[in-house]
Amino acid sequence: MKKRIFSGAQPTGRLHIGNYLGALKNWAQLQNNYDCVFGIVDYHAITVPFSPQEIKKRVFDCAVGFLASGIDPEKSIIMLQSLVPQHAELTWIFNCISPVQELMRVPTFKEKASQQKGNVNIGLLDYPVLMAVDILIYKAEFVPVGDDQIPHIELTREIAREFNKRFGETFPEPKEIVRPRMLGLDGTNKMSKTLGNCIYLDESPDEIWKKLAPAVTDTRRKKRQDPGEPNDCNIFKSYHKAFSNREELTYVEKGCRNASIGCLDCKRILFDNIVKELTPVREKIERFKDKKDYVMDVIIEGSKKAGVLADETLREVKQKIGFDYLS
Ligand code: SF4
Repeated sequence: MKKRIFSGAQPTGRLHIGNYLGALKNWAQLQNNYDCVFGIVDYHAITVPFSPQEIKKRVFDCAVGFLASGIDPEKSIIMLQSLVPQHAELTWIFNCISPVQELMRVPTFKEKASQQKGNVNIGLLDYPVLMAVDILIYKAEFVPVGDDQIPHIELTREIAREFNKRFGETFPEPKEIVRPRMLGLDGTNKMSKTLGNCIYLDESPDEIWKKLAPAVTDTRRKKRQDPGEPNDCNIFKSYHKAFSNREELTYVEKGCRNASIGCLDCKRILFDNIVKELTPVREKIERFKDKKDYVMDVIIEGSKKAGVLADETLREVKQKIGFDYLS
């Protein structure tokens, strides 16, 4: 039997190359060797201010991005969290074994609470418990995540341990598969829509070049003749390493250090590689956007399949905590 993986993405709207390289491309490969459940986690998305009209569109765009990046609904389950209500039910049960003090120590809670001082809601605090449910309700053994999510996976293991200790062996302790961090074009922050430092998967080659040409490089290279250090350059570390082949990497490293190539020459090589890889993805995005019914069917059917698995776990949990009135 294949081991199970769960990973999720919030419906944040248009997907960018950080989502693609950090998650989607990797998921498309993992689905060949693992039993995968990929979630669009819309309950997580309402812990911050949101618009009801906008969130529906974002869920659709997110599913389109999954499909265009190669997630195959014949191989993997693509589910929408709010269509599998067992997530919310198990969250309540896990809430009752999760100490508030520990949740208050989670770095992402502290960060978000300081960013939205007027809206520090319970959902924001409870976010990691819901995330633990997303993983454990499918008894996933591996979870591909960014390094900022590692504390959440640690908490997931603690919740699994605590439940198993109190009510008997039920959940595996999942392990994280950490994906590399990719910085935005400003070279300092994570890719983010609000900071405008990202390249979207549906952008045209012209739009990509307009963003890539002025992107931050090694600041030592003030003039064309100044040598640089690729390992101190975000364009090399985050982007070339993801898109360029071994020969191109060697050529860029050497040319940067002896100043035989300029930053624009270097970015041109990268640009060609980005366009080569992303053009088929962009074309598929356009095609799937025109197939609204198909995309919605994938989400609904995937959520039904996920619901069957989630229900099995929830029944087992209820039986173990003594809520087995109907069995
Ligand atoms: Fe970065 Fe390339 Fe410029 Fe070197 S030549 S600083 S690797 S963009």
